[in-house]
Amino acid sequence: MKNLAPKLSLKEYENNFAEIHPPFNPLTAKTEAERCLYCFDSPCTNACPTHIDIPTFIKKISTDNLLGSAKTILESNWVALTCAKACPVEVLCEGACVYNNKGEKPIEIGKLQRFAMDYYYKNPTTNIFSFPNRKNKSVGIIGSGPSGLACGAELKLLGYDVTIYESNNTPGGLNTWGIAPYKTRRKDSLKEVKLIKSLGVKIKTGIRIGETISIENLLNKHDAIFLGVGLGESAGLEIPGEKLKGVYNAINFIESVKLENWSSVKVGKRVAIIGAGNTSIDAATEAKRLGAEQVYIIYRRDTSQMSAYDFEFLLAKKDEIVFYFNTAPKKIIGKKFVEGIECVKTKLVSNGSKGKSKLTIIPKSEFIIPVDMVIKAIGQKPHNNFLNSIKGLKLKDGKVVVNKKNYQTGNPNIFAGGDCINGGKEVVNAAFDGKMAAHGIDEYLSN
Ligand code: SF4
Repeated sequence: MKNLAPKLSLKEYENNFAEIHPPFNPLTAKTEAERCLYCFDSPCTNACPTHIDIPTFIKKISTDNLLGSAKTILESNWVALTCAKACPVEVLCEGACVYNNKGEKPIEIGKLQRFAMDYYYKNPTTNIFSFPNRKNKSVGIIGSGPSGLACGAELKLLGYDVTIYESNNTPGGLNTWGIAPYKTRRKDSLKEVKLIKSLGVKIKTGIRIGETISIENLLNKHDAIFLGVGLGESAGLEIPGEKLKGVYNAINFIESVKLENWSSVKVGKRVAIIGAGNTSIDAATEAKRLGAEQVYIIYRRDTSQMSAYDFEFLLAKKDEIVFYFNTAPKKIIGKKFVEGIECVKTKLVSNGSKGKSKLTIIPKSEFIIPVDMVIKAIGQKPHNNFLNSIKGLKLKDGKVVVNKKNYQTGNPNIFAGGDCINGGKEVVNAAFDGKMAAHGIDEYLSN
């Protein structure tokens, strides 16, 4: 990169990456738990994709039964610590809390869940789970992200022998590598990995299916396979200059930040992020916390169409990220290194009676933003080559097609869940998929 952001002191980095939602202490947790109305129809539970029995786990906190509280949570969600910290609770459980209707602050469900899970991970035990007789059947899981871990844990408690195959050397997938460190740290995800392993699930790392071992071999080795492979590399911008030094993809950038070796992460003085989803906001706010002086988010549509949540947008604005809406990148400028990005203004033009408006470029609206680094965050591509190589699997728009009732794919011995079937949703959705797929597999192998 031509101009690197100045290095900060370790203390400054740690301050910048401090948790945005600090934990409750025992007194504040209990006080908050006692505020819960334990609603009989618990709209909070209905709004949680894993349907955690929220009033029950909160009640147990109020009676100092923290292990019981964690058990209630884990019965629904195997990656509950990550979800407690990273879930968009504002639009899920807390958004559905009845206190909102009274014009009062909703119960801080995420922080209470974190309180119970922190207690559990300080006092870990598998005594709260019941292990049935072994079934003499085995399941192979590809991918150790949230769906793979949830599927593995649930299958283990259903009596199966389970092996997870992970291409990375450190397991946990998105939870370990893809969430901004001021939300969750790697160690949180690794605690969850440790729990799943303590149940007896085997995790083999550094294994690339299709290279280290073929999918056919896995199908011969196991009675069923679960695919929790997530999504692949970041999509390209397909504009000139993409090969210049200083152009990064958001996934790799966020992964390098997750190593928490802050001063070793290369970041430009002026950074442009392309795209306005939650990953873009993570990349932008991380670049700023690493010391970038100016960070821009460039998005071809307007605020109402960005996929980032409102609270993420707010966070970015608090971090003084500058937004260029209705702006599309045309060319990345520079000889060897990124020196700027040429953009054009866009507008929506009515398509008449044909419905949806069309995005068009405003002629002669070109302008240049001087930057040293460009981060592409316009989404991820599916693992098309790998998925297309699997016999019987059907794909639609790059997503693996499954039977929504049991998560079975077009190949009856293969099940799938998480981002590879939904195109990229929340960790909590992947956790639910993995758990439900385990029951689909159990039903299939039991018949
Ligand atoms: Fe408690 Fe709010 Fe859920 Fe009611 S909706 S049970 S008050 S958290």
